[in-house]
Amino acid sequence: MAQTSPNVTIIQQADLTALNTLGVKAKAEKLIEISSIDQLHSLFDSGFFESENPFILGGGSNVLLKKDISRPVLKIDLDGVEIKFEDEKSVIIFAAAGVNWHSLVEWAVQRDFGGIENLALIPGTVGAAPIQNIGAYGVELKDVLISTLYFDTITGEEKTLQNDECEFAYRDSIFKNRLKGKAIVTGIRLRLTKAPHSINSSYRSLSEYLENREISDPTIKDVFEAVVAIRKSKLPDPKLIGNAGSFFKNPVVTAKLYKTLVEKFGDIPGYKISEKEVKIPAGWLIEKAGWKGNRVGKVGTYENQALVLVNHGGATGEELWSHALTIQKSVSKKFGIELAPEVNIVE
Ligand SMILES: Cc1cc2nc3c(=O)[nH]c(=O)nc-3n(C[C@H](O)[C@H](O)[C@H](O)COP(=O)(O)OP(=O)(O)OC[C@H]3O[C@@H](n4cnc5c(N)ncnc54)[C@H](O)[C@@H]3O)c2cc1C
Repeated sequence: MAQTSPNVTIIQQADLTALNTLGVKAKAEKLIEISSIDQLHSLFDSGFFESENPFILGGGSNVLLKKDISRPVLKIDLDGVEIKFEDEKSVIIFAAAGVNWHSLVEWAVQRDFGGIENLALIPGTVGAAPIQNIGAYGVELKDVLISTLYFDTITGEEKTLQNDECEFAYRDSIFKNRLKGKAIVTGIRLRLTKAPHSINSSYRSLSEYLENREISDPTIKDVFEAVVAIRKSKLPDPKLIGNAGSFFKNPVVTAKLYKTLVEKFGDIPGYKISEKEVKIPAGWLIEKAGWKGNRVGKVGTYENQALVLVNHGGATGEELWSHALTIQKSVSKKFGIELAPEVNIVE
């Protein structure tokens, strides 16, 4: 270990195996754990951001580390959740970037604050949530987010972007584009509801789950429990088998192309997102290309969900990436659709 400035400690040759849910064995030449915004200011004042291009790490649940990382890794451990304002209908909360996302959802549901119960059990940190505008079961972060607070690594200032300035889209935001490498998210503000809540249970598997249990007027706790149960039955637990959730984004194609695909492949599912565009489940495409549950050496796809690439143990980042490329090519050959990774590929 070495000190760069009074309050920043650098861990040399840090093992990242336990810090990425794919369980890839990789090292960071330098790892710096950030637990206060003052530390970011200290780094800025020392010229760190001018000379280095650090990689920002949260819970490591949406990254594929292709190899050892020579850039310094800043692991964001900023902690704390606060109620900033409340009235009889809603509550505004602040959550720091290092807070575990699912713990925040539990915190909210325990207090009967609604809005994020559909996003239960998404691994990772609060700070990464706006990066790809996390979403599940019919809800996205953008539906409840008021603003994102970040540290500008170019100017050293603490800044705030309002929801409409975050350029949120499907698994996308300004932080993956224009502000990539320039912003460290330090926290988010959310507006959550007080009862009576507007419950979002129309997503098919969620409504079926509730119907099967004869829950006709679900509470946010019912939705939370349903989402947790469904996710546990469908998705592999990274503690048991390395994975990063959905590896690819669901492709969006023109309505015209979708019509041609239906003519050719019959039962191809599609969700209309506008008059001109249709979203196709990437998992279906990968499954139909013959990859569901397939294993090649130490890598493969999950037996219950082809969209999830898995590390059966000891796979390298290069092996996982090479398998992802093989799947990508195979889907392109069969359907003429190019899958784009949802997971962040770290060189
Ligand atoms: C089993 C499983 C299920 C999943 N299900 C879903 C799902 O339903 N919906 C969904 O949207 N996602 C899902 N994911 C993906 C993942 O959980 C989310 O993308 C999550 O937000 C990543 O958080 P993280 O802290 O682990 O980010 P990391 O993997 O550490 O980082 C992801 C990206 O964000 C950047 N980043 C992280 N923190 C910050 C910060 N503070 N400031 C700036 N940049 C930062 C990193 O540089 C990297 O580019 C799933 C993953 C797994 C393993």
